[in-house]
Amino acid sequence: MITLSLLDTIPAGLQELRRLEAAGYSIRIVTVPRPLNEDEVAEMVPGVRAWICGTDRFTRKALSHADRLQVLSRSGVGYDAIDVEACDERGIFVTTTPGANDVTVAEFALGLIFALAREIVWADAVTRRGTWERNLMNGVSPLGKTLGIVGFGRIGQKLARLAIPLGIRVQYYDALGAVGPKDLDAQCVSFSELLESSDFISLHVPLMPSAKPLISGKELALMKPTAYLINTSRGTIVDEAALGEALERRQIAGAALDVFSEEPLKQSPLFECRDRLILTPHIAGVSSESKLAMLRMAVDNVLAILAGERPPTIVNNPRKNALGV
Ligand code: NAD
Repeated sequence: MITLSLLDTIPAGLQELRRLEAAGYSIRIVTVPRPLNEDEVAEMVPGVRAWICGTDRFTRKALSHADRLQVLSRSGVGYDAIDVEACDERGIFVTTTPGANDVTVAEFALGLIFALAREIVWADAVTRRGTWERNLMNGVSPLGKTLGIVGFGRIGQKLARLAIPLGIRVQYYDALGAVGPKDLDAQCVSFSELLESSDFISLHVPLMPSAKPLISGKELALMKPTAYLINTSRGTIVDEAALGEALERRQIAGAALDVFSEEPLKQSPLFECRDRLILTPHIAGVSSESKLAMLRMAVDNVLAILAGERPPTIVNNPRKNALGV
């Protein structure tokens, strides 16, 4: 049996699930509309050979009930909710769907750039007040401005590809030396140069093992007072308290955060800052199209592993497994 705990991809993903049925597997769709906790996983996992999951809690305790599980196919890229070491010990492959939502994140970052610069979210709030205060609005155009991309990997490069044809100048900094393809008119600069000269700074780096955020008070102080910061990568990369202070002091023009040091974000001093800060609940990578693309890839991963193949999307190193692959 194959279990799927991604209710929101149904019914658009039914066609993908039919591929599993066509391969001879029975499917169970979990109807709980949130990530499962470890007890729920423990109760449901016996007898399951493959599980297509979101951020359900596959802890060591939950996995101790997995008697037939061969693959945990994560629809998405983050797998912090899975105890990978326990999977290694039990011979369970863990796969992800890298690349399936790159463009989705990039277009969201671009949307945030325009929403910040043209004060779209604030304009909505002003209009709803019913006071028609057009004189309060003073947006700037992103066209002809400079976008600094920090982390020039998959998503960073996709953002450059979207921004350049619009007439936005792109410069980037990548700590590990990633460079864009030759046809991409983007300039590689140092981190400090990027901070000092960009009108928009968009972060696209991976989660860092270092305890120190990449953007703290020192980096914010280097930014232009007219510049905006956008973070759709991982929350701990930005020091949220320092950002709140920088916005309060009008040290930078504004910011947009899709990711936070603690998620879900239920309460934050940042909520007080209304005018020049956009907050979204970690949805940059989520669209109907990307959900389908991720499910398609997650199904591919399951079918490959159950067929004894080894797809490049495996993220762990199981010590033993029933297939011997
Ligand atoms: P990637 O691995 O393709 O690229 C990351 C780049 O950052 C690499 O080129 C690497 O060399 C560079 N880098 C690493 N450390 C750096 C540092 N300290 N300074 C500058 N550059 C550095 O990753 P990606 O697929 O482009 O993903 C980027 C981020 O987006 C990740 O953190 C990922 O978790 C996040 N993400 C968010 C969402 C969302 O919904 N908000 C969705 C998908 C991915």
